[in-house]
Amino acid sequence: MVRIGVLALQGGISEHVAALTRLGAVTVPVRRPVDLAGLDAIVLPGGESTVFDKLARAFGLAGPLAGAIADGLPVLATCAGLIYLAARVEDAAEGQQTLGALDVTVRRNAFGTQLDSFETSVRVRGLDAPVPATFIRAPLVTWAGPQIEVISRLEDGRIIGVRQGAVTGYSFHPEETGDDRLHRVWLESVTDPEAATPADLDASPWA
Ligand code: GLN
Repeated sequence: MVRIGVLALQGGISEHVAALTRLGAVTVPVRRPVDLAGLDAIVLPGGESTVFDKLARAFGLAGPLAGAIADGLPVLATCAGLIYLAARVEDAAEGQQTLGALDVTVRRNAFGTQLDSFETSVRVRGLDAPVPATFIRAPLVTWAGPQIEVISRLEDGRIIGVRQGAVTGYSFHPEETGDDRLHRVWLESVTDPEAATPADLDASPWA
């Protein structure tokens, strides 16, 4: 059975655990380096990226986690998780550090405050119909390096989903909606990396 770690320092952990459990995965809370042992992949939830950074460094987890991802551990990150993976952050808090696993620049809180939260449906590469997506103080990808595949955009073209190798990040929360399709295609890419959809979102017929 596939073993999926869920970074359990802070944030929207239980919704990811629920989605992964519905899909038949075993979930493991990850707080300390020892928790990384034997994982097939890891989920970085939404929450507060500055808190992830502080706690991961305090628990000695940041370095081993960055190392595991660099060594190929597949990742699904949502919202603050995407920020925590980004190489560069606009509007970062003072001293805020990230894992630097995705060659993107993200802008924190790009859609406004908590009160500006919204739900919409978005197109995601590998799915033949849009999925519901919740944006809560969500980041936007403002620059993507040449190795980044864009896998989701808003209607106006702004980038809200990226992939680099085995690392996938979304600006929004797919786990808040009860629709498990996004977790399902990601789990399939973990268990069968060869089956991952090759075409870029921008080349898909419904783009
Ligand atoms: N704005 C938060 C941050 O900077 C992210 C919000 C979220 O994960 N919903 O980390």
